[in-house]
Amino acid sequence: MKYTGRIILLFLSIMVSIIESFSEPTNLWSILEAVTFAAIAATLGWVYDKAVFYKHKVEMSEISLQNIFKSSPEPIIVYQDEKIVLVNDKFEELIQLSSTELIGKSIFHYILPEYHPTFKRRLEEMCEGKRSLERIELKIYTHQYNILDIEIASAPFVYNDKPAVEVFMRDVTKRNKLEEALRKNEELYRFITVNTTDLISYLNPNGHYEYLSPSCKCLLDFNQEEMLGRNLFEYLHPDEIEKVKTLLIEADTELDFASFSHRIKKKDGTYIWVETNARTIRKNSRDLEGIVAVSRDITERIEREKKLHETNVMLRFISNMDGLTGIPNRRYFEEKLQEEWNRTKRSTLPFSAIMIDIDYFKKYNDFNGHLAGDDCLRQIAIALKETLKRPADFAARYGGEEFVILLPETDKKGAAHIADLLQANVKKLNLPYIATKKEPIVSISLGCATLVPDEKMRPDDLIQLADIELYQAKKGRHNQFFLNQLSHLA
Ligand code: GH3
Ligand code: MG
Ligand code: MG
Repeated sequence: MKYTGRIILLFLSIMVSIIESFSEPTNLWSILEAVTFAAIAATLGWVYDKAVFYKHKVEMSEISLQNIFKSSPEPIIVYQDEKIVLVNDKFEELIQLSSTELIGKSIFHYILPEYHPTFKRRLEEMCEGKRSLERIELKIYTHQYNILDIEIASAPFVYNDKPAVEVFMRDVTKRNKLEEALRKNEELYRFITVNTTDLISYLNPNGHYEYLSPSCKCLLDFNQEEMLGRNLFEYLHPDEIEKVKTLLIEADTELDFASFSHRIKKKDGTYIWVETNARTIRKNSRDLEGIVAVSRDITERIEREKKLHETNVMLRFISNMDGLTGIPNRRYFEEKLQEEWNRTKRSTLPFSAIMIDIDYFKKYNDFNGHLAGDDCLRQIAIALKETLKRPADFAARYGGEEFVILLPETDKKGAAHIADLLQANVKKLNLPYIATKKEPIVSISLGCATLVPDEKMRPDDLIQLADIELYQAKKGRHNQFFLNQLSHLA
């Protein structure tokens, strides 16, 4: 109790005065004596109460210090006379030894030799009573010889009435490793972004550039500062703006990666082709924070592809055309026949073919020579081709002095009409077998066939039928056409 000493002594002094009053007569002197006695008793009581109070306070502060020491989340030791004299649980955990194994040992036993001078200096400063808030970093061994990075703070301290040093530690091994990994990554990224010839950029969700690698100079001739803060759409080719807008909208919700080719404007206003790989960066793996894009110049590749495509188209054209007449050749015909056959099969419409053979062409060659024969073939080919008006109609040189006409979606009547026209147009060429004489002139024989393609038939069936009709037309008389068994004289 706070007033125990004072109450007891005062009570005793009053009791003594009362007892005394029974044996001695009460006068002024005895009253003065009693008051003085009570005052002395109260003073002694107050001194006693204060002594008790301070003793209690010291005890309490020692207990609370011990509690702090014990419950500290960081390792703490007390170092005195070059020995560890007190450790907390966290230090035991750190070194992986119990307090009994640690107490009495030198701290230098656990510190790596290259850090001894630093720590010695710190201890000396503490012994001189200097307080230093500066933290020092050193490495220590654990019991299993693992090396840990430790950050240390220290303070002079009185322990068991003797000077000591309290050493507060923090294990920063993980933090240092993370920092080191981060530094290495940063160096690596810096090296890549500075040295890459690709354009690395970071865009905010609205498409504004927030980072651009220095390669924008050699790729687009813009300095980084010129493009920073500007919008991607200012540099895109108008034809590709919609496509990229759609991608940005999709990136806002779910799209995480996109790879696409597009054009990008250079400082001089011309465009280069780039292939861009873009990846989204999301806050809390949800909200779009930005987009990282790597764009590679593919202008040369696109040019090469364009040239290759042109060459392929040309090669294909050459391989499909007959060198002498300039109309499609047999190879192309086979391809076209199959294609048109499949198409007509789906529509269940009739499909007609006409096989054509020049009459007595051997004779023409013999009278006029091979070169004139070639020229005759050319003229007939053009006449045949020009007779056809519908886009799907197709004329090809079948071989030698034979030609073939494909008439998709054309019935017998239509085929007969075309056969008539073909014959008439060849006749109009007016090519006499013997140049000096006007008559006779070069004519053609034709075999027409019409089929409605179905699953049971093959395209060759149509050509075979037309060939049979041609054979019929050639039999006996020439210069006529036969139509699926029905002959029709020219
Ligand atoms: P037919 O009326 O029965 O068809 O008799 P034909 O003489 O037309 O038929 P034949 O098969 O006996 O002769 C075809 C001729 O066509 C023989 C060949 O020299 C000629 N010929 C084939 N291809 C060419 C060519 O590319 N140029 C030239 N000048 N002649 C060709
Ligand atoms: Mg022939
Ligand atoms: Mg012939």
